[in-house]
Amino acid sequence: MANPLYDTLFGRHAGATTPFLHLLDGTTITHAEFLARSARTANTLTQLGLKPGDRLAAQIDKSPDAVALYAACVQAGLVFLPLNTGYTPDEISYFIENSGAALFVCQDKRRDDLMPVAKAAGARLETLDEAGGGSLARLAEGQPDSFRTVDRTGDDLAAFLYTSGTTGRSKGAMLTQDNLLSNAQTLAKHWRFTADDVLLHALPIFHTHGLFVAINVTLVSGGSMIFLPKFDLDAMIENMPRATTMMGVPTFYTRLMEDPRFTDDLTRHMRLFISGSAPLLADTHVAFEDRTGHRILERYGMTETNMNTSNPYDGERRAGTVGFPLPGVELKITDPATGDTLPDGKIGQIEVRGPNVFKGYWQMPEKTAAELRDDGFFITGDLGQIDRDGYVSIVGRDKDLIISGGYNIYPKEIEMVIDDQPGVQESAVIGVPHADFGETVLGLIVPEKDANPDMDAIAGVLSTSLARFKQPRKLIVVTDLPRNTMGKVQKNVLRKEYETAFA
Ligand code: ATP
Ligand code: MG
Repeated sequence: MANPLYDTLFGRHAGATTPFLHLLDGTTITHAEFLARSARTANTLTQLGLKPGDRLAAQIDKSPDAVALYAACVQAGLVFLPLNTGYTPDEISYFIENSGAALFVCQDKRRDDLMPVAKAAGARLETLDEAGGGSLARLAEGQPDSFRTVDRTGDDLAAFLYTSGTTGRSKGAMLTQDNLLSNAQTLAKHWRFTADDVLLHALPIFHTHGLFVAINVTLVSGGSMIFLPKFDLDAMIENMPRATTMMGVPTFYTRLMEDPRFTDDLTRHMRLFISGSAPLLADTHVAFEDRTGHRILERYGMTETNMNTSNPYDGERRAGTVGFPLPGVELKITDPATGDTLPDGKIGQIEVRGPNVFKGYWQMPEKTAAELRDDGFFITGDLGQIDRDGYVSIVGRDKDLIISGGYNIYPKEIEMVIDDQPGVQESAVIGVPHADFGETVLGLIVPEKDANPDMDAIAGVLSTSLARFKQPRKLIVVTDLPRNTMGKVQKNVLRKEYETAFA
């Protein structure tokens, strides 16, 4: 027997003195040191009585110990459940109760706040700090540096990852060892990661992007990471010369571009910049290339499926698209009403199937049945289309689709016209209730810094380039758009805010 995920990501590095984590204080943790650390944690967890299949929920800072806790869970056959550090005790109580976690690990400073929550849910509570302190760290001191890896099959659960909650309450996606492993191997190969790569890691590690895409890909290829506690412009610019690759959400790219220190000199040696988790504006893609000579590689994925598509490594990385389905992943565009596959060029719901697709939502059999078809296709909730060359583009979420007077309106089509106008940085188009039409179109516009876009001119362009039913009934200037920690625009927040705009 074996433990495929542990063996392939972690076990392969046993005894290796190669670098794994470069920290801000100038120290480096080798693979061997990291494995000893995670083995001490795995011994601790077992002594606390956790059994294979138990859930371990963790709301902790990004740190080497947090990564070691993930590794320890894999080695001990536990299901790892990382939680957004921004969640309040009320929110945490939902996640712990919902998941039935046996152990909840939190920051030491929040122990008193969260103890009642853990108690009420019947979970044990231990703490872990950024600096290596906390009760779990103390228990791990003096534990053996090796741990007998617990046998698992590829079909066993490795993680519950809660979705970002952009469209509603977060759902726990059950991910198997095979889901994570197959995707890590595919991505490492597709993006040509090797042991020489040094990934600049500034993403949070409670989300699939920073945890599974970034860390698993690095582990499977044997490279190292410059492990920043969070995105910080100074640290990004200071550390970029030591990196070969970077993964980021679109806001990383726009923020880097706003800094004059971010030059082609600083990035010339870089091998690859990857973006995902939210749409990268075509403008940003183009401006980034103008500035650095690099074409950002955009990919598309989600908590439930890991990554589904990617622009090519060689070949054209096409702005505004998310590339092609990854090897082993099938993707089709279907008619929401009938489920029939639509011809290329038509907009429909994106469905995916492959070894990356999750087992279902934890304790949500109805939701699972509604979104995961018997034949294995997952209805992603995103709308998209495939162009003549096979590039997939995301048009938006089905929940953001506007239906006005019986017509379907895709906000992205309108946003693209608005974004092209002088003085506009970005926009969000939403549907708001309207007595006659059911819903009507509202456009929110964020101006470029110090710009004062001409709203009449924008309305004029919209009236000549779009059919009347798609034209926003009103355009409103706002200073920014609400975003969650992954840089995703929260249209549900906007819809609530402007609910009565036409009431
Ligand atoms: P919830 O499902 O709880 O509403 P969420 O869908 O935002 O939250 P995640 O799983 O973190 O939670 O995000 C996946 C979604 O992010 C995708 O379904 C898609 O809408 C969006 N996304 C990811 N990558 C891209 C991309 N490159 N371009 C456009 N959208 C993207
Ligand atoms: Mg989602």
